[in-house]
Amino acid sequence: MRPPGRDTIPRVKTPTTRSQAQELDTGDPIAAYRDRFALPPGRIYLDGNSLGPPMRDTEALLASTVRDQWRQELVSAWNSCGWIDLPRRVATAIAPLIGADDDEVMVADSTSVNLFKLLAAGLTMRPERRFILSEKENFPTDLYMAQGLAELLGERASLRLVERSRLAEALDDDVAILMLTQVDFRTGELLDLGDWTSAAHATGALVLCDLAHSAGALPVDLHALDVDLAVGCGYKYLNGGPGAPAFAYVARRLHDQLVSPLWGWMGHAAPFNFDSGYRPAPGVEQLQAGTPPILSLTALEHSVGLIAEIGIDRLWAKSQQLTQLFIELTAPIATKHGFEVATPRNPQHRGSQVSLRHAQGYAIVQALATDGVIGDFRAPDLLRFGFAPAYIRSVDVWDAAAVLGRVMDSGAWNRPEFYERRKVT
Ligand SMILES: *Cc1c(COP(=O)(O)O)cnc(C)c1O
Repeated sequence: MRPPGRDTIPRVKTPTTRSQAQELDTGDPIAAYRDRFALPPGRIYLDGNSLGPPMRDTEALLASTVRDQWRQELVSAWNSCGWIDLPRRVATAIAPLIGADDDEVMVADSTSVNLFKLLAAGLTMRPERRFILSEKENFPTDLYMAQGLAELLGERASLRLVERSRLAEALDDDVAILMLTQVDFRTGELLDLGDWTSAAHATGALVLCDLAHSAGALPVDLHALDVDLAVGCGYKYLNGGPGAPAFAYVARRLHDQLVSPLWGWMGHAAPFNFDSGYRPAPGVEQLQAGTPPILSLTALEHSVGLIAEIGIDRLWAKSQQLTQLFIELTAPIATKHGFEVATPRNPQHRGSQVSLRHAQGYAIVQALATDGVIGDFRAPDLLRFGFAPAYIRSVDVWDAAAVLGRVMDSGAWNRPEFYERRKVT
C-alpha cells in the first residue's frame, strides 16, 4: 500500500565511508529528537519494534506521578489529577497517527485482549456469518485469540486459516471478519490494506486490522483505507514501556452496532451509579473493561506526544531511508555469507524493519548482541532489525552493518554459547 502523501521514495546516495553516514545525520531534520530518548551507551538498539526505549524524562515523570499524585492525593487523584480521563486523552492523541477521529479510538488492555473484544464485536455485527478469515502467517496471538473465541462460541464461530495467496478465494459470504496485520512481523512486508478492504466489503465482510508494527512508524489512514476495526500496540514504535496499554479502533458507522463482549464497569455508561445491570457507555468508550493502568498510561501519553511532535510523515521518510541504507550496506555481506533479504526491496512495501534469513540466525543475533547490536530472532531463520526513526541514525545503520560484516567474516558468531536458547528471543 502507499500511505498518503508519499509518492516519492527519499533517495540518498549510499555512503561509502562512516563520515558520509554521519553527514546524512547532520542533514536529518529530526536528528535532534534522538536526545529525548534514554538509550544505553555502547549499544545500537535495533529492536524498538519489539520494545521501544524510555524517553529521558520518563523516569522522572513516573517518579513524580507516584510522589505527587499517587502518594499525595491517593484515591482523590482519580479526579484531582485527571486519572479517570487519561485513557481518553491518550486515545485522542493516538487517533491522528492512524487516520481516525478521536471518538473512534479507545486505549485499554493489551493488543491480544482488544483483538478478542473486536473479533467478538465483529461477529455480532454479522450474525448470519460464522468465519473469521486470516492468514497462517499472521501473528500468533491474533490467531490464538480467534481460536479461543471460536472454541468459546462453538457452532457460532470458526477460524478459517489459509496462505496469503489463497485469501481472496477464501473470502466468501460466510466470512464475517477478515483479520489481517498491516506489517508482517516476520518479513516487514506492508500489506495493501485498501485492496483488502475493498475485496472484503464486496462480499459483505468486515476488516479487522492489527497495526502493531505500523502505529508510530508510518502514516496509517484508517478512514481512507475504509478499515472497520483495528487494534495496535503501545510499547513498540509508540514507546509506551513494557506492557503499555494498547488501542482499539471502531469506525463510527459501526458504533450503533458495537457490543463489547467484556462488560466491565469502566465500560459502563455510569460506572459510579453502581447499578447491578450493565449498560454500555456509548461508542468505543465501552471498550474499557477494568481500571486503567495509570503509570503505564502516563508514560504512554508522554511518548505518544513526542511521536506526534516529530510528525509521522517525517518519521516515515526517515524510516525508509534507514531501511534502504541497511539493505544496501549489508548486500555484500549477504552475498558473501548466504543471507537472503526477506523484506520487500521497495520501501513503499515495507514497514520500519529489515529481516535477513540465515539458517544460523539465532546464533548470529546472539553474537551481534555481544558486540552491542541488538536485533532479535524469529524462528525458524529470521534475523530481525527494527529501525525506529525517532532515535536511530544513519551512522548506527553504518555501524550495525560493519559489526555484522565483522562477526560473519571472523566466524565469531559460531560459538557454542550463542546457540543456547533463551526464554525470550
Ligand atoms: C506485538 C504484537 C502483538 C502484541 O500483543 P500483546 O497482547 O501486546 O502481547 C499483537 N499482534 C501483533 C501483530 C504484534 O506484532
